Amino acid sequence: MANWETVVVETDLLICGGGFSACGAATEASYWAKKKGLKVTLVDKAAVDRSGAVAMGLSAINQYVGVKDGENTLEDYVRYVRQDLMGVSREDLVYNIARHVDSTVHLFEKWGLKIWKDEQGKYVHEGRWQLMINGESYKIIIAEAAKNAIADAGGEIIERVFIVDPLLDGNRVVGAVGFSTREDKFYVFKAKAVIAGMGGAVHVFRPRSVGEGFGRSWYPPFNSGSSAYFTIKAGAEMTCQEVRFIPVRFKDAYGPVGAWFLLFKSRAVSAEGGDYMTTHKEVLQNYAPYGLVKPIPANLRNYLGMIDVDAGLGPLYMETAEAIQNIAAQYKDDPKAFKKKMKELESEAWEDFLDMTISQAILWASQNVKPEEKHSEIAACEPYFIGSHSGASGAWVSGPEDLPTPYKWGYANMTTVEGLFAVGDGSGASSHKFSSGSHAEGRIAGKQAVKFIVEKGQAPKLDMAEVEKLKERILKPLDLWNKHKDETTDPEINTNYVVPRQYLHRLQKLMDEYAGGVVSAFKTSKALLERGLELMALLKEDSDKMAARNHHELMRVWENIQRTWQAEAHIRTLLFREETRWPGYYFRADTPKMDDKNWLCFANCQWNRQSGEWKMMKKDIWALPGA
Ligand SMILES: Cc1cc2nc3c(=O)[nH]c(=O)nc-3n(C[C@H](O)[C@H](O)[C@H](O)COP(=O)(O)OP(=O)(O)OC[C@H]3O[C@@H](n4cnc5c(N)ncnc54)[C@H](O)[C@@H]3O)c2cc1C
Repeated sequence: MANWETVVVETDLLICGGGFSACGAATEASYWAKKKGLKVTLVDKAAVDRSGAVAMGLSAINQYVGVKDGENTLEDYVRYVRQDLMGVSREDLVYNIARHVDSTVHLFEKWGLKIWKDEQGKYVHEGRWQLMINGESYKIIIAEAAKNAIADAGGEIIERVFIVDPLLDGNRVVGAVGFSTREDKFYVFKAKAVIAGMGGAVHVFRPRSVGEGFGRSWYPPFNSGSSAYFTIKAGAEMTCQEVRFIPVRFKDAYGPVGAWFLLFKSRAVSAEGGDYMTTHKEVLQNYAPYGLVKPIPANLRNYLGMIDVDAGLGPLYMETAEAIQNIAAQYKDDPKAFKKKMKELESEAWEDFLDMTISQAILWASQNVKPEEKHSEIAACEPYFIGSHSGASGAWVSGPEDLPTPYKWGYANMTTVEGLFAVGDGSGASSHKFSSGSHAEGRIAGKQAVKFIVEKGQAPKLDMAEVEKLKERILKPLDLWNKHKDETTDPEINTNYVVPRQYLHRLQKLMDEYAGGVVSAFKTSKALLERGLELMALLKEDSDKMAARNHHELMRVWENIQRTWQAEAHIRTLLFREETRWPGYYFRADTPKMDDKNWLCFANCQWNRQSGEWKMMKKDIWALPGA
């Protein structure tokens, strides 16, 4: 085995991940931990200042309810999420996040985030729930608050350590193991409670951008299914593993469309088919009541565009020029004011990209796009797992104690494993929390985890022989490389190992072709999924043969293995749900209709740690009284 030092870190609360939800958890937990003399440790595979989906910055806070201004009620938000997720959401969790999110946004502002204000000093809304921000440094601001809180409470932040597996004592989590991506160090974390906040998953499916553009995707490439893997491997029940997200974005650089649709009121059309939201309106009847109420769910909007693309009537375009002209038209009688408004709109359009997807601005520049003069191409991206956005995959967590939800087994946001909490993209069926809601959910879980430790915390019991076995397995790719690398003239072609990139291509091809990726036009069926599972079993066998030349590739190996578990949970749940509820995200061609009678429910799954078997379950939907 590679001769790496074992570093043992003892803590009370371990927070895995350093993104929005983890920073929320760290900020809140540190406050309570300090009072109780407990230690909080946060571990991130990257550097907290610029890690996770918000690394590059954002141009809007997507969840703000605005309760204090009487803009909306919490029930309004619950209804909005129910509608967008075609009736399938954990309304207790959505409500709990919604009632905490405004205070989180106010904290962001206090910490220095610039939220746009109008002449009356009120927040500028992009849409009903969204606030415009100058968000290039959004992540740094939120990270700073988390770092300060941890430092103030005497906790620890460990960066560049990749968390692999959970450690368990029966059905109780007692820590985690991981490795440094820079030094020859294997980490063992002993903890009384653990929060999984390691984001969602990208690159499970083959991206549209292959070859020279490989790696480019809507979802930033850093998150590889670690939260899902960690909770599944701990034996936690999972939910909504079929509900992946397919955003429609500016083509090839994945630039955001929110400001165009919501702020500029732009239309999207197909080149030959026209305004697909109008021409295919009758299709929405099949998805009543959701298809008939505004806002039309994101998957249905996707679907109407896909009908034209499938028929060869594309490309799809965002009518940027028309939108800008429409807004500026109010100033048409005053040429000076008109010119000024046009300049302002043009700069807002570019700033939107520069704030969060710089590559889209570069692509526009390289293609001589002037949004005020010409429309721009949009397209449906490959599927992602992002339970905090418009997808819903994640762990099945306990609801808040003061609501009459049937889903309560202790501490809010605790999974079905004692002491293991899940947040952000890691917790399921509570979509549309976005950056602010993920942070709020992190705060909820952080406080609850400290409560758990105070009331039920035990000194973690670790089986060090098991840990040693894990160390051997985790470092094995380095050994494989060193043992066999000289056996061929081309080190990437070897009968004894595969390199991570080759494995990744195989996983992505499998998912693309059998589980409804871009190549199969987001369609799948029972027969395809069953064949996919057969191939998946062979792929999993070969995962043991991945080799790594260095620290970075060792991370790539484990990212791939974690993605594979996310992929398997996805295929199994697609297979289990025998209907098509979210066309536009995926289409079960053999069960093409929505079937409320049998499937207006959660589809849950659980991997058994002893037997290695998967169990599939239906769970009822609970509606929030009054919503
Ligand atoms: C392209 C895009 C655009 C978005 N736009 C908006 C928007 O405009 N407004 C808005 O409010 N929200 C937006 N969101 C949503 C928002 O970014 C997410 O809701 C939020 O980041 C989720 O928080 P999280 O903590 O679950 O994940 P993240 O913030 O992504 O954090 C995940 C963390 O886990 C770490 N990690 C991953 N694997 C491991 C491992 N194995 N070991 C240790 N650490 C690990 C990562 O380094 C990172 O620190 C957008 C998301 C995306 C992807």
